[in-house]
Amino acid sequence: MKSKIAVIGSGISGLTAAAVLQDTYDVHVFERNANIGGLVYCNRPDDVLYHRVGGHVFNSKNKEVLEWFWNKFDKEKEFVQAKRNAKIFYKGAFVGYPIENFLYQLEVPVVEQVIKELIEINKAGIKQPMSYEHFEAFLQNTFGNTLYELYFKPYNQKIWKTDLSTVSMEWLDGKLPMPNILEIITNNIIRRDERDMVHANFYYPKSGGSQFIVDRLAEGLSVVCNKPLESISIKENKITLFGETFDKVIYTADVRNLPDIISADKPFQYENSIKQLRSNGTSSVLCSCDVNDLSWLYIPESSFKAHRIIYTGNFSYTNNSDVLKKSNRSSCTVEFSGICTKEEMIKELALLPGNLVPIDFNNEQNSYVIQDHETRKIIKAYKEYLAPYGIYVLGRFAEWEYYNMDKAMEAAFELKNQLVNKKS
Ligand SMILES: Cc1cc2nc3c(=O)[nH]c(=O)nc-3n(C[C@H](O)[C@H](O)[C@H](O)COP(=O)(O)OP(=O)(O)OC[C@H]3O[C@@H](n4cnc5c(N)ncnc54)[C@H](O)[C@@H]3O)c2cc1C
Repeated sequence: MKSKIAVIGSGISGLTAAAVLQDTYDVHVFERNANIGGLVYCNRPDDVLYHRVGGHVFNSKNKEVLEWFWNKFDKEKEFVQAKRNAKIFYKGAFVGYPIENFLYQLEVPVVEQVIKELIEINKAGIKQPMSYEHFEAFLQNTFGNTLYELYFKPYNQKIWKTDLSTVSMEWLDGKLPMPNILEIITNNIIRRDERDMVHANFYYPKSGGSQFIVDRLAEGLSVVCNKPLESISIKENKITLFGETFDKVIYTADVRNLPDIISADKPFQYENSIKQLRSNGTSSVLCSCDVNDLSWLYIPESSFKAHRIIYTGNFSYTNNSDVLKKSNRSSCTVEFSGICTKEEMIKELALLPGNLVPIDFNNEQNSYVIQDHETRKIIKAYKEYLAPYGIYVLGRFAEWEYYNMDKAMEAAFELKNQLVNKKS
């Protein structure tokens, strides 16, 4: 008989883990909400596709992820491939993204100062990102103080809502290419666009947005919704939850709740630190907007509350309703860090470009994990504490990692290898 695994949470992490383990194990997924998908969940108010959190486009640099993913989906028939056309809304104008490649669009004294600082940084010798103590030091010493103050600081402070010197560098590892000063100057002179960024090109479902992805991943799996996990009891090597016994549990929900969910025989030494991990929420408003050709608009200035507009109506034509199409309008999501009221969001729309008209609103309590200097150490210790009980944490909020969908998939593959190797 196959060993029995309970997977808690039906986001990308839980569904990927269940999908890759189902040949070897008897896998059961339990989801708190009425719908599967977690952060990538979409619905269609007024027949306009709404990514309730983010915009969720897919790409990966990992061959194993790509191979697995494209085995599940038909790249040509089910997805569109798009090139990112992102801009920065700065002083009422649209500046290219990433900003360091579009310095020529800024005022001359600013450009002179930025170039001067970049040359000085180059002379002093470029350091590897991981050698910086924190995120603020990395940004200041990599892009120079002028670009830091103009763009990186206000934008990142809006998102992270925290002093950037408390944000660990570890979350950046492997996520951003290291800017090369020769390349920045060359890109500005010959006006070469971005090339190496993870989402410079991306794939997006022709229909259904990221909900299409999770619906497909869930096919053939046992998934029960409206099942919030509240307790796990462990006695004599038996794990019991929802009145059933399991051999193993893969937990993809918020790790901060886990110490209170598990009743184990010995305490975990960093329990308080786990409970005190920091996160930010995201509020968003789905809008109709004037037609444009953008994918994202970043809004660094602190005079705006919103930090980004995602032009989801441009990702796939099917995301817009017939009413919008007939009136030559498109759709987008305006995003705010933290929890905002409807009134605050509506007030902001009048300040932003594109004649935005609200359709629907959402508040997500937890969307961005904040890693500080101790986070990885504590999570590693927690994994070592949980594994002998047969409990494994996986995913953005369970491992407290700044995962994109592809990284969450990669982590699920690693967990599969760990479990299957242990078995054999
Ligand atoms: C604003 C934003 C934009 C993003 N854009 C992109 C993008 O464009 N491309 C990309 O690749 N990635 C993007 N990401 C990252 C992506 O959303 C995550 O990597 C991915 O969704 C994480 O999935 P997960 O399964 O780990 O977590 P989640 O999606 O949070 O899944 C956890 C699941 O557990 C359930 N759960 C919670 N508590 C319980 C409980 N007690 N019992 C049972 N179930 C429970 C939740 O309801 C949820 O369904 C973005 C993220 C954000 C916040």
